[in-house]
Amino acid sequence: MTSPFDLTGRRALVTGSSRGIGLAIARSLLEAGAHVVVHGRARAVVEATAAALAGEFGADAVSTAVFDVTEESSVVEGVAAIEAAGAIDILVNNAGVQHREPMLEVSLEDWDRVIRTDLTSAFLVGRTVARAMIARGAGAIVNICSVQTDLARPTIGAYTAAKGGLRNLTKAMTAEWAGSGVRVNGVAPGYIRTELTQALVDDPTFNAWVLGRTPMDRWGEPEDIGGAVVWLSSHASRFVTGQVVFVDGGMTAVV
Ligand code: NDP
Repeated sequence: MTSPFDLTGRRALVTGSSRGIGLAIARSLLEAGAHVVVHGRARAVVEATAAALAGEFGADAVSTAVFDVTEESSVVEGVAAIEAAGAIDILVNNAGVQHREPMLEVSLEDWDRVIRTDLTSAFLVGRTVARAMIARGAGAIVNICSVQTDLARPTIGAYTAAKGGLRNLTKAMTAEWAGSGVRVNGVAPGYIRTELTQALVDDPTFNAWVLGRTPMDRWGEPEDIGGAVVWLSSHASRFVTGQVVFVDGGMTAVV
């Protein structure tokens, strides 16, 4: 009997998987047996990451896609090229950016960039991929949220608005697509050590705040996130949709 978590024969697109959390998610999906499409905007980085993963998991297990998730025509073209090679069974909307500045100072341009990258992209890539999933009557989408899906902090207003919006987009997608066999869930990482957060890890005051605020008393590692994504992508979660799972060492469970 095969495991309900087994993803053998499934193809997954993980946006922003050239590094950081997306790369760790890609590795977890590969370990579960899936084929992974490695994605980002910088072609050289995407190809180097894919080559390293192909060395580990085999050339047939990995392919690449390079497009900007905020540009509709690039998304439509990029998804069509992936689908031409084989169905996308799993979509992980992971690409994201951060911008730290008091809200009174934030330019509209920076606000729009964060909302487009962290929220609008999940709508654009999500519905483009969902059209094909709905036609096939099956698919799993996982939106990568954040502790800021639930809780605010000063200086990251656009990110907080986008990640809160992503929770309700997850529910809106569920409302429209659950009846067509497409499940949509979110995974909300706590504070994870990546390029996006290296400056915070290096800031003694912020580092002490994260450790004091996290019951498990450590930063998360990118590798901590993949298990929840594999579960939500697999048959093991077949009756789970519209939910956000917090993978945060207990941060959002305590005050
Ligand atoms: P990184 O900056 O390390 O990686 C971001 C990835 O997204 C890269 O592959 C990048 O590639 C890609 N990307 C960014 N913008 C675009 C775009 N417009 N089009 C296509 N690809 C894009 O970030 P993290 O790994 O830290 O974060 C990944 C996700 O996890 C984000 O959604 C983030 O909000 C979320 N998260 C992170 C936490 C953390 O502590 N680090 C905590 C909670 C959530 P390229 O630049 O080449 O395009």
